[in-house]
Parts: sequence; C-alpha cells; structure tokens
Amino acid sequence: MKSAITCPAIYRSFAPAFKLHYLLIIMVHHQIVIIGGGNAGISTAAQLLRKNKSLDIAIVDPADKHYYQPAWTLVGGGVFDINKTERTEASVMPKGVTWLKQKALSFAPDQNQVELENGPVQYDYLIVCPGIQLNWNAIKGLPETLGKNNVCSNYSFRICSIYL
Ligand SMILES: Cc1cc2nc3c(=O)[nH]c(=O)nc-3n(C[C@H](O)[C@H](O)[C@H](O)COP(=O)(O)OP(=O)(O)OC[C@H]3O[C@@H](n4cnc5c(N)ncnc54)[C@H](O)[C@@H]3O)c2cc1C
Repeated sequence: MKSAITCPAIYRSFAPAFKLHYLLIIMVHHQIVIIGGGNAGISTAAQLLRKNKSLDIAIVDPADKHYYQPAWTLVGGGVFDINKTERTEASVMPKGVTWLKQKALSFAPDQNQVELENGPVQYDYLIVCPGIQLNWNAIKGLPETLGKNNVCSNYSFRICSIYL
C-alpha cells in the first residue's frame, strides 16, 4: 500500500478503495459489547447466548488471567486451593463470543461507541462491568504493611493465603 500512495496516479485511482478498506478496519461493530471479562461479563455473555446463540457479542478485556474472587474467602480460611481460583481468560470465554483483548479507554454513548486501545468499537447495546479498583492507599500505612507483619487481605490473590 505504501508504494501505491507514493505514486500520485495510482493513489488517485485506488484512493476510494483504500478509504473504504480503512473504514471497514476501524468501524468494528457488535450487537452487544461487554466491557470486562470478569465473573459479571463472562456470565452475562453466557446467559445471553443460552437464550439466543445467534447474538453477536464482544467482550473487551486485556487480561490474560481470570480470577474467581469469591473463593478467596475460603482460601484465606484454609479450605480451598488458591490455584483453582486462577484460570486463563481464554479458557473462560464463552464459545461464540468475540474477545477484544484490549482496554476500554473512554465512552462515547451519543455515538454508541467505546474507544479501545486499537481504535473504536460500536454497539447496539453496551454492558459495563470492569470490576472495582482497590484503593489500599485510603488507609494510612496499609500498603507498606500488606503482606508483612501478619497483615493480609482476602481481596488480593497475591496475599490472601500467605499466612496459611
Ligand atoms: C474475598 C472476596 C469475596 C467475595 N465474595 C462475594 C460473594 O460472596 N458474592 C458476591 O456476589 N460477590 C463476592 N465478591 C465480589 C466478587 O469479586 C464479585 O461479585 C465478582 O467476582 C466481581 O466480578 P466482576 O466481573 O464485576 O469483576 P472482576 O472479576 O474484578 O472482573 C473485572 C474485569 O474487568 C476487566 N477490566 C478492568 N478495567 C477494564 C477496562 N478499562 N477495559 C476492559 N476491561 C477491564 C478486568 O481485567 C477484569 O477481568 C467477593 C470478592 C472478594 C475479593
């Protein structure tokens, strides 16, 4: 494509085709777009597909790993294996879903569009479930002592079982 663009005559004759091609690449559209492939996103997609398997659903999530967080309570209590709470994101993706392995950056609801790292995706329906952001810093001294001094938290895969 580069060599065609450097030659004006060829560029003029092919430009409309290139523009169309470019539009097709950037205007990705799915009937349903789900932001977040955690428990909420994965189970919502699976339930929708169970009702209608012809639905066109995309899940947006950059993560390699999926965590079943509720089990961390049992892990902390010493009755469940931490390794069983971690799976690859690919292994939990429902069959028939398009996985957009990218981060959602911003929302443009007036255009039914979400900006992703590699460009926008458009939707008819949007489901937003990116989880929560833990703010350890809200408690003075907590970040420094987490994982030390007998302080742990069942809200963290890394430290929920370190004192077992
Ligand atoms: C110890 C513990 C016990 C719990 N017990 C219970 C319980 O008994 N019952 C209950 O209902 N809940 C419980 N919870 C809460 C539980 O974590 C949630 O119910 C559920 O796992 C959250 O799922 P989620 O999909 O909303 O979030 P998560 O599982 O956190 O998934 C969010 C996903 O969004 C992705 N994401 C984040 N930002 C972006 C972005 N910008 N773009 C794209 N993707 C993004 C992340 O990569 C992640 O994969 C517990 C939690 C903990 C830690």
